[in-house]
Amino acid sequence: MHSPEQANSNVSRRSFLKQAALGAAAVSGGLFHIGRARAQSKGRMIMLGYDGMEPSVVEAMLERGELPTLKKLQEQGTYCHLTSTIPPQSPVAWNSYATCKNPGGHNIYDFIRRNPKGPKGPMPLVGTGKIDPPVLDEAGGLKTPAKGTNYRMGNPFWSVADAQGKRGKILNIPFAFPPDPLKNGMMISALGVPDLRGTTSTYFSLSDGFTPEQLQEDLGGGQRIALSFSGEDETGFTVPGPRDNRYRFSDPNAYTRSSLRMKINRKDKQGVVVADGKQVDIEAGTWSDWLELRFEMSPKEEILGITRFYPLEIGEKVRIYMACVQYHPDAPYTAFTEPESYSAELKGRFGLYKTIGWAYDTHALRQYDLDEEGFLKDIDYTMSWRDRLTLDELQRGDFDFLLSGWTATDRAGHMFWRFRDEGHPLYDASAPEHWRNALEYTYKRADMQTGAVLARLREEDTLIVFSDHGFGSWRTEFNLNVWLQENGYLAVNNPKQAETGFLQGIQWSATRAYAVGLSSLYLNLAGRETGGVVKPEEADALIAELQAKLGEVIDPKTGSKVFSTLYSGQVYSGEAKADAPDISLGYSPYYQNSRGTSRGGVAGPLFEPVKDKWSGEHAASDFKNLPGVMFANRRLEKQEPHIKDLGVTMLASLGLDIPADYEGENIL
Ligand SMILES: [Zn+2]
Repeated sequence: MHSPEQANSNVSRRSFLKQAALGAAAVSGGLFHIGRARAQSKGRMIMLGYDGMEPSVVEAMLERGELPTLKKLQEQGTYCHLTSTIPPQSPVAWNSYATCKNPGGHNIYDFIRRNPKGPKGPMPLVGTGKIDPPVLDEAGGLKTPAKGTNYRMGNPFWSVADAQGKRGKILNIPFAFPPDPLKNGMMISALGVPDLRGTTSTYFSLSDGFTPEQLQEDLGGGQRIALSFSGEDETGFTVPGPRDNRYRFSDPNAYTRSSLRMKINRKDKQGVVVADGKQVDIEAGTWSDWLELRFEMSPKEEILGITRFYPLEIGEKVRIYMACVQYHPDAPYTAFTEPESYSAELKGRFGLYKTIGWAYDTHALRQYDLDEEGFLKDIDYTMSWRDRLTLDELQRGDFDFLLSGWTATDRAGHMFWRFRDEGHPLYDASAPEHWRNALEYTYKRADMQTGAVLARLREEDTLIVFSDHGFGSWRTEFNLNVWLQENGYLAVNNPKQAETGFLQGIQWSATRAYAVGLSSLYLNLAGRETGGVVKPEEADALIAELQAKLGEVIDPKTGSKVFSTLYSGQVYSGEAKADAPDISLGYSPYYQNSRGTSRGGVAGPLFEPVKDKWSGEHAASDFKNLPGVMFANRRLEKQEPHIKDLGVTMLASLGLDIPADYEGENIL
């Protein structure tokens, strides 16, 4: 079975080159004086972005006095909602932030996209970017190093400012990977940086007590490894690292491996893990230090990685979570900072640090290979690291703008909403207080960080604190592909394959519409999809018919309408419009695409209760219901700002020329 990550490598070279050419055209599009730029302000621009911070939770906390610094900004400057994108999904919204355009201009519509021209029909692909592994020659020498590609089109506003001589620090802004070339500033990528295997993140779960069922379970984003200890309570094991493209996926050599040894003391619940002559201590309920791993791709090429451990149990049984193997800052698999040397410089300043883009292991928590305590301790650790980096860069050297991002606010929402919604199928009133308040905890940390940043600003500086979208509870999965099947729009010729997903087992010759991704519905359009059957002249009528019928779908259990708004592709404009979904879903509160539908599967009942720890969502909600928040230390001139306004606002406040194709407006 292949994952979307692997399917990714099937993007044809031609379509990739075409995208690259379009991107280059956008960059060379030129800058125009169009009278929007204001007189240059003396101050610097600082923006702190918190993924998915939800206004209703923020407002209740402001009311209770739990966010004193943000309250001060509200009173002396601005607090308002920040309009998100269609859909209000992180990759979509953060790329609208970066490029000051709607998704039709930047080409990112969903976490998962599809290639309409697969060999037998459309195929799912990762939506935001890809990584090409290094290519070795026959003798094992390096022919081409690994290379990351961002599917984003358009030119981010930080590059525009850089080209006009401004010095920027761009820290951990989501989905900005690979980092953009800068002449005057520096950048570290976060969300979007894959692990050494090239996946979003693949953890390892180590145990001497797995049942055969646990070892056979089809895991997302993880692998279980059975340990067998000697009488001395010592064991060895190997983990897979980078892909070796000289071998096929099915070949045992497809992934290079690194060897580790472990020795434990069950009585003291402790142990050590050794790799490549170095060791880290491990202890139950505690995150270990970083351990460096070495992967030998050939006698001539090796790749370094880092990992760390969180033992859930060292006693009668051993159960240890091992983080995905991440880029080593001293010798990254491919650059995740600009300049490339910045990653090693940061290690010199702070020691080894987390480099994986998917910074919190939601996969492991969902699959019971990491527990809530370990997850929350990791939130603390990672937020502290990003706080420290931001404050350090704020005080170090001159700069004109600093942009910094955090994602813990979003992940805590996804994983802990089940403890705050009494109507959620997994609601547990007896959960510990700090699990129920996990979200509030991350918001309080954001408030404290804002206070620390404010204390270091100059009078004339502008500070904006914002989130890219809001959040809500996800109680019910809707099997949209099953609905399409039951209503005669989609046909299946291999039910077993169709259950697996990845748009397999579908009878394309009898299918007029299909769903894949978190929020996207497509027609099987003649001339666009391989073997497409919907004539272009019939497309608009079919879209309208689907909008009308889906708009009437009622959940028999609650009597509620499942969809709030169904947006046709006409809401998008720009050079990437041809790739837009034909309908972008806007679900009512509590509903989202089922996991099966999102991965392109067709199986199961129409409605299913959410029995997954991933219990909060926003990805396919109606953007009208899920704005983000925005605070500023100045009063706003424009009401109801949009996330694509922020970059334009920064360029204007620094007195810079604004690209003519930017859609945002100056709001200050
Ligand atoms: Zn999210």
